[in-house]
Amino acid sequence: MLSFLKKLFPSLVCEVCGKRGVEYLSVGSSKKPQVRHFCRVHRQNMVEEFHKLFVAYSPNILVTSPHQEGSYAQLYPFYPVSEMKMMNFSNSDIEIVNEKLSLFGVKKCAACKEQASAVYFTTVPEMYTWNGMDMKQLQTSGGHFYCKQHCFKQIEGKLLANKNLFNDSGLVAPYGGSGIYVNTPL
Ligand SMILES: [Zn+2]
Ligand SMILES: [Zn+2]
Repeated sequence: MLSFLKKLFPSLVCEVCGKRGVEYLSVGSSKKPQVRHFCRVHRQNMVEEFHKLFVAYSPNILVTSPHQEGSYAQLYPFYPVSEMKMMNFSNSDIEIVNEKLSLFGVKKCAACKEQASAVYFTTVPEMYTWNGMDMKQLQTSGGHFYCKQHCFKQIEGKLLANKNLFNDSGLVAPYGGSGIYVNTPL
């Protein structure tokens, strides 16, 4: 039965064990993403795949805290600045993201003193209001500059924390230049 289903819906089963995939990792542009599926047990494999793509990505990015352990389905998408207008972000939200991205200059990673390429915001678990995203919260929360590797260390535990068996959740590998990670309930 499983192999039959696998043939029918090749993308809906975990790429490691073939069980139903409730987690997904989107790789590539939003127009033509490759979607890789994983079961809850193999979420760890997915986070490791995400890790490789995150660390290899060179553009500067803003990273707000993931919140994947909630009682509802959660995504942790990446929004490239180049697509924010198309994704219905307001002009003032896009301005705030650009303003934060302009602060990189010669900033060094707080952990290893390499050139920083990510800012991590600890105090913004979620920026979703009834009106959509609200980037204003970024203005009042201080960010910490890191290299990608040390930025990943800040979010790794939270990315692994989804324990609710009935919630689908997803990660998006960075693409399309500079942008921002914002946890988004489905
Ligand atoms: Zn699996
Ligand atoms: Zn570092």
